[in-house]
Amino acid sequence: MVKLDIIFGFEPKVCRSESCRGHKKMVIPKEVKSVIQSLQKADFEAYIVGGCVRDFMLDQNPKDWDITTNAKPDEIQKIFPKNFYTNEFLTVTVLTGNKKPELAEIEITTYRSEAKYSDKRHPDQVKYAEKLEDDLSRRDFTINAMAMDLPRGKAGENKKVIDLYDGKKDLENKIIRTVGNPEERFNEDALRMLRAVRFATTLDFKIEEKTKQAILKNNIWLDAISKERIRDEFVKMIMADNAAGGIELMRELNLLKYIIPELLENYGVKQNKHHIYDCYQHLIKSLEYSAKQKQNIYVRLAALLHDIGKPRSKAGEGDDATFYNHEMISAKMTFQIMNNLKFSKKDVDKVVKLVRYHMFYYDVDEVGESSVRRLVKNVGPENMADLLQVRIADRIGSGVPKAEPYKLRHFKFLVEKVSKDPISVKMLKINGSDLMQILAEKPGPKIGQILDALFGLVLEDPKKNNKKYLETEAKKFAKLPEKYLKELAEKSKEEKSEEQKKEDEVIKQKYWVK
Ligand code: ATP
Ligand code: MG
Repeated sequence: MVKLDIIFGFEPKVCRSESCRGHKKMVIPKEVKSVIQSLQKADFEAYIVGGCVRDFMLDQNPKDWDITTNAKPDEIQKIFPKNFYTNEFLTVTVLTGNKKPELAEIEITTYRSEAKYSDKRHPDQVKYAEKLEDDLSRRDFTINAMAMDLPRGKAGENKKVIDLYDGKKDLENKIIRTVGNPEERFNEDALRMLRAVRFATTLDFKIEEKTKQAILKNNIWLDAISKERIRDEFVKMIMADNAAGGIELMRELNLLKYIIPELLENYGVKQNKHHIYDCYQHLIKSLEYSAKQKQNIYVRLAALLHDIGKPRSKAGEGDDATFYNHEMISAKMTFQIMNNLKFSKKDVDKVVKLVRYHMFYYDVDEVGESSVRRLVKNVGPENMADLLQVRIADRIGSGVPKAEPYKLRHFKFLVEKVSKDPISVKMLKINGSDLMQILAEKPGPKIGQILDALFGLVLEDPKKNNKKYLETEAKKFAKLPEKYLKELAEKSKEEKSEEQKKEDEVIKQKYWVK
């Protein structure tokens, strides 16, 4: 029998943050209280449980509030008319009407215990449990297995915490430890191994030794876990201040090979005389810096992946090794890695672009407006600020003491300047239907070719984007023999890659990456 260890008089901590000015920060929101009281009035037990108790005790704002009860889903639904019920998780979600995302929905889950697992990821059946103790015993880590009753007493300062597994002690000692035997718990659900690293990273805790050993022994079972569940934990890890430490811990515990095995190809691969770090260390340092700067997920992912293709593009050894085309290879690999982790198409596209163009050239004296225009066209104006951040992370992650503020300012100025210029065919002062009318042409490839040819002119010189001029040029283009027009349209596209090639050459000389 487990001892029901009830701690009375748990004091809310005094907030030390500037904005709070010392008042008691952590209060239980009235929406949460009201849900618990409604359940209690109907003669059910109800407790706040899981991650929100942990966060509350750490004096951090919970991301959501979960409640556990002995009421069954149909009984819960009767008490709260505004709800939705998902059969999969046997959870009733109550809609509170509050606008804050963490309070808009409160999840109420019936006590349950998890029965036998045969596939390392799903219980064969979910069983309701009668007692709170059973529900706490199925939870993953001691710090996530505490429940809290509503505050009692006059000032509401006494909170009752039900802590059967010494979660409070582990919180104080900053320890991640499974509830019960770690091997058994990881055999039930292999995702818990990754969650251990995730919580160690986000909370800056250590994983307890037996729990660690069990991960080292059982990591292969992570292979059976759905990529969506893995991605959700991975994203939380990447968004932590210590994201870089999280990747390193995954590597040490042999979990990284089930998430981004390509990172391991980089481990210990030397660069050349221009670099003090090896390929893997450089990626880790770049991520570390972007996390330190509190960058968004796109910048962090691009920082981690921007050079991931270097080992595959490496030619030669020692001081003069080269990494020709590594940004293209890295972009392709980023596409595969993120697709494999089931990121949305929008997210994949964005990070791939940041990786593909991270080598952009921006030397004050040499960079021309037309090349900045092409860059903005290729990366998208909405992604330029992120691209700049990736480049800074790349630079700092190479061990260079600081970014180059003057150069960057100049580059930002150019981006701003050209962002008013046409950077897509859509921004031409003439469109397909105008052309059809002026030239009395039917819809067809010819119209597209004329547009491409006109766009080629405007990219070089935005002043040419006026309707009169474009009309005159369009008429000339229309008279050209089919073969020549086609060539011209293609050449205008080709010229883009020629320009790109020129830039690449300069970069290669500059960075010694032939
Ligand atoms: P976060 O603050 O990131 O939401 P959390 O602790 O609330 O962290 P959730 O994934 O929201 O994590 O899960 C809520 C609670 O459900 C956990 O605190 C834990 O008690 C329990 N739990 C979640 N996933 C598992 C799992 N795979 N195995 C056992 N218990 C789990
Ligand atoms: Mg949660």
